[in-house]
Amino acid sequence: MVNVDLHLHTTYSDGALTPDKLVELALKNNLGIIAITDHDCTDGIDEAMLASQGKNLTIIPGIELNTDTDEGEIHILGYFIDYKNKDLQKLLIECRNNRVERAKIMVEKLNDIGINIQWSRVEELAGYGAVGRPHIAKAMLEIKSIATFQEAFDKYIGRNGIAYIERFRLNVYDAIKTILQYEGIPVLAHPGYIKNLHQLLPSLIKSGLKGIEVFYANYDTNTINGLKNIASKYNLIPCGGSDYHGIKTKTEKLPGTLGPPIESVNKLIELTKK
Ligand SMILES: [Zn+2]
Ligand SMILES: [Zn+2]
Repeated sequence: MVNVDLHLHTTYSDGALTPDKLVELALKNNLGIIAITDHDCTDGIDEAMLASQGKNLTIIPGIELNTDTDEGEIHILGYFIDYKNKDLQKLLIECRNNRVERAKIMVEKLNDIGINIQWSRVEELAGYGAVGRPHIAKAMLEIKSIATFQEAFDKYIGRNGIAYIERFRLNVYDAIKTILQYEGIPVLAHPGYIKNLHQLLPSLIKSGLKGIEVFYANYDTNTINGLKNIASKYNLIPCGGSDYHGIKTKTEKLPGTLGPPIESVNKLIELTKK
């Protein structure tokens, strides 16, 4: 049996381990196939491949694209993406820069209308994660400029809010198209966190979504079974993994805790040949 983990982060996004340390841990935990899926970044892939040379571990190149919707963040994983493509790399650099810039401008706009949240506090609230609107909302809650988290979106930073800045390029559909354009296989990450999943799925599939995370280490058996049904109903490849960041919280699941069967990897590989 080959153990698989298709969702892992390194220091190239918000993970705590360098690619070679992550490879070490994967080997220790008896994994045979892993995917490196940093947020908006593929720079850890080559290092992981180098570290795994001569070892019994296969590295699948991957990415996790962050997209931002009014219903919350949606993440799309892309496996076997052509990460050496220069145009893709240009786009990823823009995504990374833009994310921070956009959040900064929204904070400035809020400051202009007398809501005095500090940028440094927003960054702090983001912690290891990529900074975004939820962190701005939290900062607003802290200084009691709003009564509820939702109010921040309704009045200020939601699509119709007065401090809203349009997201640069990548909405969830564009993220799927981008992954397909660069020969990757798009897979919906941690769908258990998406409120309107059932309404959303048909349009994502129409855009080219090919898989969905089912074997997600943080999900309980009921959630996993529900997602198994969704995957087979829509004919999506059931993927998954630990989404390991190495942040050392007691509840964090280690690489190899749960992952998809090897059949899922074979199906992904099958699609790369089409
Ligand atoms: Zn994610
Ligand atoms: Zn992730």
